[in-house]
This record gives sequence, structure tokens and C-alpha cells, in this order.
Amino acid sequence: MNLVIFGPPGAGKGTQAKRLVAERGYIQLSTGDMLRAARKSGSELGKKVAGIMDRGELVSDEIVIALIEEQLDQNKGAPGFIFDGFPRTLAQAEALDALLASRGSQVDRVIRLNVDDKALLDRITLRFEEQGRDDDNPTAFAVRLDAYNKQTAPLLPYYRDKGLLKEVNGMDDIDAVAGAVSRILDLD
Ligand code: AMP
Repeated sequence: MNLVIFGPPGAGKGTQAKRLVAERGYIQLSTGDMLRAARKSGSELGKKVAGIMDRGELVSDEIVIALIEEQLDQNKGAPGFIFDGFPRTLAQAEALDALLASRGSQVDRVIRLNVDDKALLDRITLRFEEQGRDDDNPTAFAVRLDAYNKQTAPLLPYYRDKGLLKEVNGMDDIDAVAGAVSRILDLD
């Protein structure tokens, strides 16, 4: 199962991905987590992306595609992958298709978590207080939301046209969203 979990920052992608890891043994591939780990390790890559991330802008397609490719190779034979925060541009979506095709596989489902902008801002404000993620500050959040609307939302028709897109109400509580996600994964 190759699942793309899709939605704006704060929609609950990471929360749902972690549940699927626990419940189904899928591998969560979060490019945001990978980039944060690179920063923490002090690597060249981490230094390169730090400013871009703190401003809330997207890092280059090349960087995130390479991270995903590396992870696919390191986790061969996994029962499933959850792509969380990737793809975020059309070029990334096309690259993902090519990476999977060359491994005899494909995107199986795309689940969009729908949450309105006001609720997103409330959630991000709370996360900023709890976790202190630099890019959860209001200025960077506005840039991230704008990047989502301009660069990532155009992927919706890409996946809709392929018949892969399913929508879930991300305003519901975590268990209800998880139930809806599970039902979609279990469809034939
Ligand atoms: P996230 O944790 O998914 O919200 O990602 C945090 C930040 O990492 C984003 O605001 C971007 O700067 C960067 N990032 C994560 N994933 C991607 C991606 N697929 N393409 C470009 N930039 C990304």
C-alpha cells in the first residue's frame, strides 16, 4: 500500500500517519521529519535548508526527491508506505510516480484531510506553544499556507484525474478521522 496523506500544515497528516505505523506496520516517510533530523545532526543538508524551512518556504524538489528515494531503498519489503508532506509540487508527484514505477509499484490511495483555515491556525498556535517548532510561528505559518495553496493544492486535480483521491473530514476528532482513513485503505 502506497498512501499519500494530503492536506495543509496542521491538518493532522503526521498524527494519522503515526497511527497507521502503529496499527499496520507501514513506514511513515515524512520529508519534514527527515529535514528536521538533518538540521539536528548539523549536516551540510541541514544547514542548507534551515533558513528556507524557518521562513516557511519549500526546499528544492531535488532535495526531497533524493530523500524519498533513499528511504524507499532502505525499506524494501515494507507492507506499506505513507507519504506525509510529500509530494508538495507537481514535479515531486511525477517523480514519485517514476520512483514507484521503477520498483514495480504505484500510488494506491491519496487521502485528503479537509480542515478549515481558522482551525489550522488554532492547531498550529497550540503546537507552537507545546513543541516550539520555529516554523509554527504566525508569520512562517502564513507563508506555509500560501505555499500549500499555490504549489501543493494544484496536485488535487492531478490525483483526482487518476481516480485516486479520497476526501476525509479532518475537523472530526482523531479517532473518527482514523476510522475514515482505515475504511478507505480497506476498500478493494
Ligand atoms: P512539514 O513538517 O511537512 O510541515 O515540513 C516542514 C518544512 O520542511 C516545510 O515548510 C518545507 O520548508 C520543508 N519541506 C517538507 N517537505 C517538503 C517537500 N515535500 N517539498 C519541499 N519542502 C518540504
